[in-house]
Amino acid sequence: MVFSYKGGELYCEDVPVSKIADAVGTPFYLYSYSALIDGIKAYLRPLSRIGGIVCYAVKANSNLAVLRTLFREGAGADIVSGGELFRAVRAGVDVKKVVFAGVGKTEEEMAYALRMGILMFNVESVQELEVLDKVAQAEGKKAPVAVRVNPDVDPQTHPYISTGLKESKFGIDVDEALDVYMMASKMEGIEVVGIHCHIGSQITKLSPFVDAVDRVIELVDRLKDKGIGLKYMDIGGGIGIRYKDEEPPTPEQLIDAVADRVKSRGLTLIMEPGRSVVGNAGLFVTRVLYVKKKQNKTFYVVDGAMNDLARPALYNAYHEIVPVKERGGSVVADVVGPVCETGDFLAKGRELPEIERGDLLAVMSAGAYGFAMSSNYNSRPRVCEVLVKGDQFFVVRERERYEDLVRGESIPTFLLEV
Ligand SMILES: *Cc1c(COP(=O)(O)O)cnc(C)c1O
Repeated sequence: MVFSYKGGELYCEDVPVSKIADAVGTPFYLYSYSALIDGIKAYLRPLSRIGGIVCYAVKANSNLAVLRTLFREGAGADIVSGGELFRAVRAGVDVKKVVFAGVGKTEEEMAYALRMGILMFNVESVQELEVLDKVAQAEGKKAPVAVRVNPDVDPQTHPYISTGLKESKFGIDVDEALDVYMMASKMEGIEVVGIHCHIGSQITKLSPFVDAVDRVIELVDRLKDKGIGLKYMDIGGGIGIRYKDEEPPTPEQLIDAVADRVKSRGLTLIMEPGRSVVGNAGLFVTRVLYVKKKQNKTFYVVDGAMNDLARPALYNAYHEIVPVKERGGSVVADVVGPVCETGDFLAKGRELPEIERGDLLAVMSAGAYGFAMSSNYNSRPRVCEVLVKGDQFFVVRERERYEDLVRGESIPTFLLEV
């Protein structure tokens, strides 16, 4: 285990978490290099056996050092914006392993990705396809395209992170996709190369993935009959992680379950994991500011808040919380931040040890959709990020200062008159 207690103290690899807190202050995100490597290798190993490609979903954790770690092992990138492409390129991605998804790509983003020479655009609507055709022609290029199809399967996860149902804004309904492919195959600026689906996130069962692949394969076969051959089958991301007691499938189990069907059609399998690569490689460290007792309720008021880690407030998500220095006793408490919102909590009604002002708490499984979703709400500077490798640690993003909060803002001169 990369996060474990030694002599009553929580360590990340060979570094005591409290030592990092002393050096960088709190709150902060902490990532384990070896856990990141294990996370990406769990995909790279089984996929390399069948010539597949891993496109890490940059949105889960887009820190340059994290990206660099994953790209250096051989991962590519799944991006959803020009900004993510910029980050991926900055971190040295192989652009031939970049796929671009998202319902709202702008013409500027399309042109940027075309110039960089990415592997393919995962197109989500007819109008987007028409615009991409036009932009590619203006650039004197052919845009490699996969249609994102919506297989209408229920991933049985939180509704906010279900993306493959009929009513969702994502993708093109599987029944309409054939016509869209026919249209695409006639466009001057488009080269049809693949098919894409992504049904949701934090999925803990194998069956929704397999059902989705079955529906997409059916379409692949129908396309073949119409003379449209594909190279890539991109089955998206979405494998869940253990936050509490979930037992998600392993990447290898999913790959084993679908590889034969994909290979027998001569397709290269692409996967776009995010959470399952980085989620359990990171934690969020916060310090207890106050222990507040109210009638029969205990609040641990900590210096980390919903702007730093949004998942509890946003999805009522569960994150395990442990003290950095082991403590005895037992209290049922809410762990809350300083933000002026009732929704600002990291845990509610949680059984925790007796904790004192000044103690450090580690919020586990915070490597995915943690810092990446953070904001400056309440004018709170964004926290720093630290990467641990063995007995060393590296600040991979500085804590913001007050000056950063107002960067780019200005007061019009008329307002300066008194
Ligand atoms: C968010 C997203 C992913 C990654 O999902 P995880 O659940 O983090 O694995 C992959 N592909 C697309 C298109 C996405 O939007």
